[in-house]
Amino acid sequence: MRNEKGQFVKGNIHTPESLEKMRLSHLGMKQSDETKRKKSIAFAGNKNPLWKNGVSGNGTGYIRILKPEHPYASKRGHVFQHRLVMEEFLGRFLTKEEVHHINGIRDDNRIENLMLFENHFKHMQYHIKQRIINYFLSMLIIDKFKEVNQWAT
Ligand SMILES: [Zn+2]
Repeated sequence: MRNEKGQFVKGNIHTPESLEKMRLSHLGMKQSDETKRKKSIAFAGNKNPLWKNGVSGNGTGYIRILKPEHPYASKRGHVFQHRLVMEEFLGRFLTKEEVHHINGIRDDNRIENLMLFENHFKHMQYHIKQRIINYFLSMLIIDKFKEVNQWAT
């Protein structure tokens, strides 16, 4: 697709509203209930092979499995499924390590969606870095949009 000056332009030009939505979602800030609902539908049921074994609805969004024999089970005998998946992958128990969900979906416990951190501090450091990177990326997108608008007028 070309514009009136004959320059190539991409198919979708974002509106300021959609850019703002992108910026907010990149910042990991407000996620509407609608988005949350869509995500949970997308990953519910058969689409997520791990779902059936899960104990969901504990309010945190994470899936817990009843496994009282696990050495690090909670007092009630639960272990987070994402930790179990990582343990199975590594072939050992996790202690101080923390498991991060790459796509931000807390019940998507496919191994390719999980990332291991040495400890809580390293994990949180990563979250802060991601926020900063996403903030500057979203600023770049908005600047580009302004530039495109200037050319057009
Ligand atoms: Zn995380």
